[in-house]
Amino acid sequence: MSWTLQRRRKSDRLKTLTTLFGLDGGSHMDSLTKTNFLGNVRRMFDRAARALGVAPDLVETIRECNSVIQLRFPVRLRGAYRTFCGWRAVHSEHRLPVKGGIRFAPIVDQQEVEALAALMTFKCALVDVPFGGAKGGLMISPEDYDEAELELITRRFAKELADHGYLSPSRDVPAPDMGTSEREMAWIADEYRALYPSDIDALACVTGKPATQGGIPGRPEATGRGVHYVIREFFECPEDVSRCGLEGGLEGKRMIVQGFGNVGFNAARCLTEEEGVRLIGVIERDGAIVSDAGLEPAEVAEHLRETGGVEGFPAARFVPDGSSVLEADCDILIPAAIEGQITAANAPRIRAPLIVEAANGPVTFAGERVLLRRGRVLLPDLLVNAGGVTVSYFEWVKNVSHMRFGRLSRQLDVERNRRILDLIETTTGKPVPDDLKAPLLRGRTELDHVRSGLEDTVCEAYGAVREKMLTIDAIDDLRTAAFAVALEKVVRSYREMGLA
Ligand code: NAD
Repeated sequence: MSWTLQRRRKSDRLKTLTTLFGLDGGSHMDSLTKTNFLGNVRRMFDRAARALGVAPDLVETIRECNSVIQLRFPVRLRGAYRTFCGWRAVHSEHRLPVKGGIRFAPIVDQQEVEALAALMTFKCALVDVPFGGAKGGLMISPEDYDEAELELITRRFAKELADHGYLSPSRDVPAPDMGTSEREMAWIADEYRALYPSDIDALACVTGKPATQGGIPGRPEATGRGVHYVIREFFECPEDVSRCGLEGGLEGKRMIVQGFGNVGFNAARCLTEEEGVRLIGVIERDGAIVSDAGLEPAEVAEHLRETGGVEGFPAARFVPDGSSVLEADCDILIPAAIEGQITAANAPRIRAPLIVEAANGPVTFAGERVLLRRGRVLLPDLLVNAGGVTVSYFEWVKNVSHMRFGRLSRQLDVERNRRILDLIETTTGKPVPDDLKAPLLRGRTELDHVRSGLEDTVCEAYGAVREKMLTIDAIDDLRTAAFAVALEKVVRSYREMGLA
């Protein structure tokens, strides 16, 4: 039973939201970092809708969340009841199920969850993932609880969500986000299965599960790897690179990453290991570390796990005012922590020519305008961090099909490759070197399928966004272009379904 249940339809909420987040807030809104996020997303959406000439009534229909629920529930811990508060916002159900992470953070609130849900709708549309958008959040500091307590809290939250129709393989499928990981997703899946034991698709109620619990290999790294692919695509277009004053390829470029959790760490790992990018700064909650010689991502992550911060990391300079390092000299700045980090206040001092939004909403609307005026290039969150939901989609498909990818074709591939190799060796009279043979005779693993699908999806989306920016006169930045590509698809859906 929930202590309070709040469910409002979009028409009721429009008036309140318009009052709270007027479209003409300018720099005043930019300074309201917390409540501003939803306002920022609305302004970004409106800018794209104007560029496409979408009818105002349709703009209003699509812009707001369809429903939002607030759940307050008690959990008995350490001999007393503690009450927790969480939200789930569903932005658009033009595709089902709706999809979006669950965030555990002390500062989460309803507006934040609504903003993130809206981003999910457009992110899914951009990368052709056939889901609507949603997001959930629980107001909690996870570090205040031990694992057994967190399990109790997570299971109770999952039950509340399921009881109210906000957790289901066919309607609403969460995933990890800030403060949650595959551990919480396994608890949620198990709770749902216990509630609905005859649902054969129960495991598909949530994605980002451990590979051994119905998850898919490559999901933990997916968002960071997607960040890597988008940056790589950008560097494959010399005109794009020169637009921000950089030149050459990715090798040797210097990057700073803010937030070294799932997304930040995996992006840094892929970019250093596979592209030769140098990690010269990491910004975390307790401050930042910088080293011109370069930091080893795995070592920084290990230190963070052991000590809870970056302070004390050997062979690096510690800067207590971490956010000042956002303004340090580097080639690529990757905010991968939380929203509202680059605003109109610090944007004039950002030196990085390329800013890559790995987090959701790290650059505000006003902050972005300053950056663009200063000739910086911004790769937007809708595109940059879409790798997570892309691989979540693969996991969901795997769960509802009850079979891992490649199971039917792997041996067929191996057999075909063996015949081709035999033919080459017979015709040339020379053996094919073992290191070339080995991968062909191993066949493609499920991880190979996942990475290939991720790369294909993200690179195609980058191309579509770039083309939109180059072909529509009213669009001259990649964020508006990304919203425009997504919005066109959502509008088409609404029209075809007869909703508009
Ligand atoms: P996480 O909890 O794994 O990591 C976040 C990291 O940021 C932590 O190390 C935390 O200490 C640090 N951090 C928090 N506040 C900070 C601050 N003010 N300054 C510096 N560091 C700070 O979370 P995550 O899953 O990596 O998510 C990060 C961002 O990426 C969020 O905006 C999230 O919505 C977005 N995102 C995540 C995924 C995913 O698959 N996990 C997918 C898409 C988008």
